[in-house]
Amino acid sequence: MKIIALSLLSLCCSLALGQKPLYDIVLKNGRVMDPETGLDAIRNVGITGNRIAEISSSELAGKQVIDVSNLVVSPGFIDMHAHGQTNKENEYQMHDGVTTAMELESGRGDMQKWLDSRKGKAILNYGASASHQWARTEVMAKSGNSTLDQVMNNQSNYAALKAEDLKPTLSLLENELYAGAIGIGVPIAYYPGATREEVYNVYALAADKKMIIFTHVREGKAMAIQQAISDAVTNGAALHIVHLNSVTLDEIDLALRMVSNAQQRGLNVSTELYPYTAGSTFLQSALFDEGWQKVLGIGYGDLQWVETGERLTESTFKTNREKGGIVIIHNMKPEWIDRGIAAPFTIVASDGMPYSKLAHPRSAGTFSRVLGLYVRERKVMSLMDGIRKITLMPATRLEPFVPSMHYKGRLQVGADADITVFDPTTIIDKATFEGGLKFSEGIRHVLVNGTLVLKNSTTIGEVYPGQPVYGKYKR
Ligand SMILES: [Zn+2]
Repeated sequence: MKIIALSLLSLCCSLALGQKPLYDIVLKNGRVMDPETGLDAIRNVGITGNRIAEISSSELAGKQVIDVSNLVVSPGFIDMHAHGQTNKENEYQMHDGVTTAMELESGRGDMQKWLDSRKGKAILNYGASASHQWARTEVMAKSGNSTLDQVMNNQSNYAALKAEDLKPTLSLLENELYAGAIGIGVPIAYYPGATREEVYNVYALAADKKMIIFTHVREGKAMAIQQAISDAVTNGAALHIVHLNSVTLDEIDLALRMVSNAQQRGLNVSTELYPYTAGSTFLQSALFDEGWQKVLGIGYGDLQWVETGERLTESTFKTNREKGGIVIIHNMKPEWIDRGIAAPFTIVASDGMPYSKLAHPRSAGTFSRVLGLYVRERKVMSLMDGIRKITLMPATRLEPFVPSMHYKGRLQVGADADITVFDPTTIIDKATFEGGLKFSEGIRHVLVNGTLVLKNSTTIGEVYPGQPVYGKYKR
């Protein structure tokens, strides 16, 4: 569905006076690419306030005119899976072309408080799902802990919810939806204490509210995908399976078939992955309980301690696990990732981690890696298809649950002026497992809601145009 022009009022007034409209910003002479309409042509883009006001082959007048010849003008990239939710991580993601970064896997506890904490201070647009893990802990243990590493560490992750605690947990989640949460985050691999019945009831709540579940499935690879799809379709809930690569490993082809077949049968199921052969998470989490070597198919030496970059041994595994912190898990084959990225129905999302110099490179390089490595160098897909996976696809996936997504992921008149301008001949990720986080190359300009946050590949600084992205129940 194309966006209807909304911001024509000022334009009409100027035209009536016989003046040429003066836009706030004009992006001049760029290769404008819009995956929804298929537009791929040299155009001038006029921006007024926070919206795209004009796209034209005629010259446009602007208070600020930026020559973007030989560069691609794309909708800003939308990341459905970003754990790092401060401006430190926002800056790395902005250099990777991201304009909206949402935490939908784990979600955020105490939604109102979290949204308030970022209001007027965020570089990028932000949003989060309601956290099932936090809600059940709140009801069971009343811990008051809501940060991600606190929630991961809680003993209640190993406890089943008591029968009398189910209703309060579900109503807490419902309240989080009213506070603006985007669906419900259900990373059940991190709280093995949750029974099938508890999880099934959370899916039922999502179905009842016509909302979406985001899940990091239990261990079990393709079998765990079947379980999630079954919970979703028998309840009638929408389902998004996060990082299909790291949860299905050598069973990714079967899992891709399951998702694709489900979609072809009209079932409301989607998935995403990130373009790297290693995962990353908290060492103190339930993922590293007894038997992790078998589940992840690796040994101690395949774990990289993010604080120092060193590979772990049995002894450093123990001491670091007690202390708590993040590891990188080297356990995937490049061909699994290739097939996942090439599948036309997969979305790319970063799973970007909280800032650390040696954090997983996906935190800084995911989107440039897709366009540089997979599109340009290895020709796995066309440039338009690469752009589609990181703009239109996440926007349309979320639109039924997040009305404002109608105005994102598109380079059209009336759309939000979230725009990424990049050089298709040089765009590439620079962050590595050995060298740590580095800004990507080739991202030239980034606008968030009509405000430049990156110009000539340089952070503007001290501008905070990021707006909250709310689920449809926001009151
Ligand atoms: Zn995860």
